[in-house]
Amino acid sequence: MYRQVPPVDRKMMQKINQNTLLNLIRVHAPVSRTELRRLSGLSQGTIFGMTASLIEQQLIVETGETQSTGGRKAELLEIYPEGGYVIGLEIREYELVIVLLNLHGNIVSIEHYEAQFRSNANHAIEWMITSVDAFIERTQVPRNKILGLGCGVSGCVNTQLGVVVDSWILNWHNVTIGPPLQEHFALPVFVDNAVNCLICYERLFRSGQMYHDFLLVTIGRGLGMAAIIRDIPFRGSQGLGAEFGHIPFGAEGRICECGNPGCLEAYVSDHGIVRTYAEIAARSNASHSAVSTISIEQLVELALQGDQDALQAFEVTGTYLGNGLASLVNLFNPECLIICNEGEHLLSLLSTTMTNALTQHTFSQLGKNLQIICEKNTTIESWARGAGCLVLQDFFSSPKHF
Ligand SMILES: [Zn+2]
Repeated sequence: MYRQVPPVDRKMMQKINQNTLLNLIRVHAPVSRTELRRLSGLSQGTIFGMTASLIEQQLIVETGETQSTGGRKAELLEIYPEGGYVIGLEIREYELVIVLLNLHGNIVSIEHYEAQFRSNANHAIEWMITSVDAFIERTQVPRNKILGLGCGVSGCVNTQLGVVVDSWILNWHNVTIGPPLQEHFALPVFVDNAVNCLICYERLFRSGQMYHDFLLVTIGRGLGMAAIIRDIPFRGSQGLGAEFGHIPFGAEGRICECGNPGCLEAYVSDHGIVRTYAEIAARSNASHSAVSTISIEQLVELALQGDQDALQAFEVTGTYLGNGLASLVNLFNPECLIICNEGEHLLSLLSTTMTNALTQHTFSQLGKNLQIICEKNTTIESWARGAGCLVLQDFFSSPKHF
């Protein structure tokens, strides 16, 4: 039996048209009303009415003039950045980063709060509410200008319910965060996997703007992935997305944080690379006593200084990663792969062997026009900005009506 689709009422239609125009103005700014009419297919009357209303709401502004056909001047429109704000929260093991973004996705204000979120889900909501309330107070942004709040968390997230299903990094399982935050702040709250947040940022404001099919892979504390397929975020049947880090890499391999043996993340991640280095160092020189406690930053430094064991650890990891990426390319045939890391040099150390393995294992023509973008310096601020972009993504898209 088919579900009856509710009729689109006048108000909903206006909302759809308004968001369509806002998104076209965002993407094509500065843009004239004539051009908007051509891009949207809406009537001249609707365009004039809607843009007047958006100017009144301070969501767009007239920024200049262009010579239109017939010699008449046409006003150009663009998004007014301070017309609204969103809040982004990035929840890490021992830190919460809060950002306030304007409608251009720029960071207006940022604060870091230190607290042990790992294994402490019981206190997390209370800490988030207290710190965000104080943050809003300090930014002095009127509450009615805040469009919503986005939260980025590692692991599997049920975005419909706002529930963190499993985050091994935070050691949170079935933790409901969306509804209590929404109730307290009386704002729309979006919760998603942090890598999905980051791809949202890429898609709205960075390299991802140019592509309809692209993948984003993050290497750091874990190995994450998000995908945009035909302009739509890939979520799978349960809405939980793709877990690149937990594909089996070697059945007899290292035990992953998720409990399974041989996940790719146990090899391609900060702790995975350090462990590979420790194994190599143990084979080549037994006197390396502190190798297993070395940080990834120290290991990068060692490699940059020419330490052969450190260089080998990155080379081996590059091959593992390249093999994994080839699987992704063979499955998704993306236009672009964006690879992110928080540091300046780590991706460079992996890149030669990664590219070789990727090229070798990509099937037929699937990698023919593939663009690879390495986003170094994808800092914790970028992740928090991604969380805020969950709200902006909703703001600039047409509402679903069934
Ligand atoms: Zn795993």
